[in-house]
Amino acid sequence: MKRIDLRSDTVTQPTPEMRKAMAQAATGDDVYGEDPSVNALEQRVAELTGKEAGLLCASGTQSNLIALLSHCQRGDEYLVGEEYHTYRYEAGGAAVLGGIVPQTLAIDTDGTVPLAALESKIKAKDPHFPRTRLIALENTHTGKVMPTGYTASVRALADRKGLQVHLDGARLFNAHIATGEAISSLCAPMDSVSICFSKGLGTPIGSVLVGSEALIAQGRRWRKMLGGGMRQAGIIAAAMDFALDHHVERLQQDHEHARRLALGLADIEGIQVEPVQTNMVYLNFSDPNQATNVHRSLKERGILVPNAARMRLVTHLDVSAGDVEQVVASFRELLVSKRT
Ligand SMILES: *Cc1c(COP(=O)(O)O)cnc(C)c1O
Repeated sequence: MKRIDLRSDTVTQPTPEMRKAMAQAATGDDVYGEDPSVNALEQRVAELTGKEAGLLCASGTQSNLIALLSHCQRGDEYLVGEEYHTYRYEAGGAAVLGGIVPQTLAIDTDGTVPLAALESKIKAKDPHFPRTRLIALENTHTGKVMPTGYTASVRALADRKGLQVHLDGARLFNAHIATGEAISSLCAPMDSVSICFSKGLGTPIGSVLVGSEALIAQGRRWRKMLGGGMRQAGIIAAAMDFALDHHVERLQQDHEHARRLALGLADIEGIQVEPVQTNMVYLNFSDPNQATNVHRSLKERGILVPNAARMRLVTHLDVSAGDVEQVVASFRELLVSKRT
C-alpha cells in the first residue's frame, strides 16, 4: 500500500535525479572555504535574495539561531510572534545559548504581528530594560503569505527605532510562487533571511542564511561553535542547487493540490476549512474525538494526518493529484457530507 503523508512537507524523499546530482557534486573542505559547490550555492542564494552573502546551515533551526546570535548580544531582546518558529519551536535556543530575551506578541489572523503592538514593546534606553535589538518575522506563517505592505512598514518602524529585522523564510519560495513577487523583493525589507530547502523544495537537508558580509562573517563563527561547520558539504549544496533549478516552479502544483483538498472537504459536516493560500490546509473539527477517529481510520488506509482538532494537511513533492482525490474520497467515506 502506498503511503500518503500529509503531516508535513519535510517528509519528501530526495528524487533519483537529485541523488544523481548529489553523487556527482564537486567537493572540498567547506570549513577551509574550499568546497566549490557550497561556495557557488551560497553565492547563488545571496544573489537571488539580493543580499551580500550566504551561509549554508544544517537546518532552519540552526540558521535562525545563527541569525539571532549574530544580531543580538547577551541582554538584547527580539520581538517575535508567540507562534513563530523562532520563539515557539526552537527549544528556546536564543535564550539558552545567547542570553537573548524574547518579547513575544500575539499574532493576527493574517499571520502578522500588528505594527502598533510591535512599537509598544520597544523598550526605552534604561538600565532596567533589555535592549530591544531585533524584530523577527515569518513568511509564510501557517501557510499564509505576509502582506508586502506590512513588511515595508515593519522596515520603516525598524529604521525609525534603529532595529534590525530577521525573516524566517523557511517557506519563502511558497510565498514567491503564491504572489509572483521576486524573492529579492520579498527579502528587500530584511537584514537577514533564513530559507529552508528541506521543506517544499524537497532536499534531504540544508538551509541558507543570507545577509550583509559582516553579519554572515559573524554567523560563520557561530556556526562553527554550534557544530555546524561541515566538511565535504558540497553533496548537500548540490541537492539544494538542483532544487533551485527543478523544484521551485512546481510548488504551484502543491498549492493547487491544497486548494483542491480544501474544496473537496469544504462541505463535510462537523469540519470548518480555513482559506488556503499556499500548501497548507487547516481543518477545524467541532468534535475533537472525531478528529482522533479520522486520524486513526485514515492511518489504516495508509493516509497520515496529525491527531489534532485543528488538523494541518500539507501538500508536497510526494503528493500527487490522484493522492489528493484519494484523500478526499476517504474523508467522505468516514464523515457525512452536508449535501447528503
Ligand atoms: C521547519 C521550519 C523551520 C526550520 O526547521 P528545521 O526542521 O530546523 O529545518 C523554521 N521555521 C519555520 C516556520 C519552519 O516551518
